[in-house]
Amino acid sequence: MSLSDLQPLGLDPILSIAARVARDPRPERVDFGIGVYRDAEGHSPIFAAVKAAEARIARDQRTKAYLSPLGDTRFVAAMSAAAFGEHLAFAGLQTVGGTGALHLAMHVLAATGSGRKVVLGTPTWPNHAPIAASAGLGIRTYAHRADVGGAFDPAPLLQAIATCSAGDVFVLHGCCHNPTGIDPNLAQWQDIAAAIAAAGALPLIDLAYQGFGEGWAEDQAVVALFHDAVPELLVAYSCDKNFGLYRDRVGMLTVKGRDATSGQMIVQHLAAAARTAYSMPPDHGAVVVRTILEDAELSRLWRSELDAMRARLASLRQAFAMALEARGLGQPCLSRGFGMFGMLDVAPGDVEQLTERFAIFLPPSGRINLAALTDATIERLADALLAVRA
Ligand code: PLP
Repeated sequence: MSLSDLQPLGLDPILSIAARVARDPRPERVDFGIGVYRDAEGHSPIFAAVKAAEARIARDQRTKAYLSPLGDTRFVAAMSAAAFGEHLAFAGLQTVGGTGALHLAMHVLAATGSGRKVVLGTPTWPNHAPIAASAGLGIRTYAHRADVGGAFDPAPLLQAIATCSAGDVFVLHGCCHNPTGIDPNLAQWQDIAAAIAAAGALPLIDLAYQGFGEGWAEDQAVVALFHDAVPELLVAYSCDKNFGLYRDRVGMLTVKGRDATSGQMIVQHLAAAARTAYSMPPDHGAVVVRTILEDAELSRLWRSELDAMRARLASLRQAFAMALEARGLGQPCLSRGFGMFGMLDVAPGDVEQLTERFAIFLPPSGRINLAALTDATIERLADALLAVRA
């Protein structure tokens, strides 16, 4: 086959929205698609703590010589202590964002166990299945959904665990589920962890939004819980949202092995996979995060900025849920959810009407980035939803 035989690919549903918004002449257009935090002016700001750390790095950094496929090991130590606490023993390496962590994990898992499957709750982040497929892993799915009261319904997940094979990999959103915003509560997580341990399955926790949900410590509680419950655990961690470093691509993959030696050995394999894929991760964002975490004053500034984002997201979510309620369109899973995302109860035809009639842009799934709401657009979106349902 020659390269010219390649077939055109469909557009990514979220990135194609951004292109459509950019072409739309209506000044009132709003993009609820792309998943970046926005402030009240619609900007995706750079944290003041990041700016201060970057100024310090520009002044003090003396070399850009190569590191190694492990990346900045001081960053990994500081970030895992800040995220999970000093007491949890993890080995790990720096990765190219959370995506890079998932990619390395799945490729090493594919090499260690024939017939291993990846089990995904759907809907999920649209890149999970393609990453698993790119590693050659089979995929099983179950429904990640809310019950009628809007809380997480654990039955399909527990059923998937009961029918899995030992060694299957359960990708679990650690907090702020993307796209539904609906997470298991702690008691449900305990049942899930016990069932996974009993089945001999392997949990791969995807933690991309620590600090955006119930609180910094609360958002990683699931990691501590699994660390105690299972012999082997992988955590794919992204710093791209909670430090606002999206394009700098900062993440880590942390590993609990059956013992410390086995954990280090797994990391060696992950580092070997990194070496063939990209040799080593980009340094800048990791040094920024480390500079913040190693400095008490910068850490305080960063945490206060993150706390303000969390508070703003929670209040937008509640205000929007109330605006829907007031129009008879209440959705309990929106008001009970956490993080940047939620699913609007809409059909694809409704989404097209929102765009055509009201310049409101969403992916066809109805996933909404709540950070893109403002006091004015809350009412506008609620009115528009009412109109398209009429
Ligand atoms: N996992 C989930 C659930 C996400 O929503 C995202 C990004 O949107 C990622 C992983 C990837 O994060 P990163 O941008 O750090 O690769």
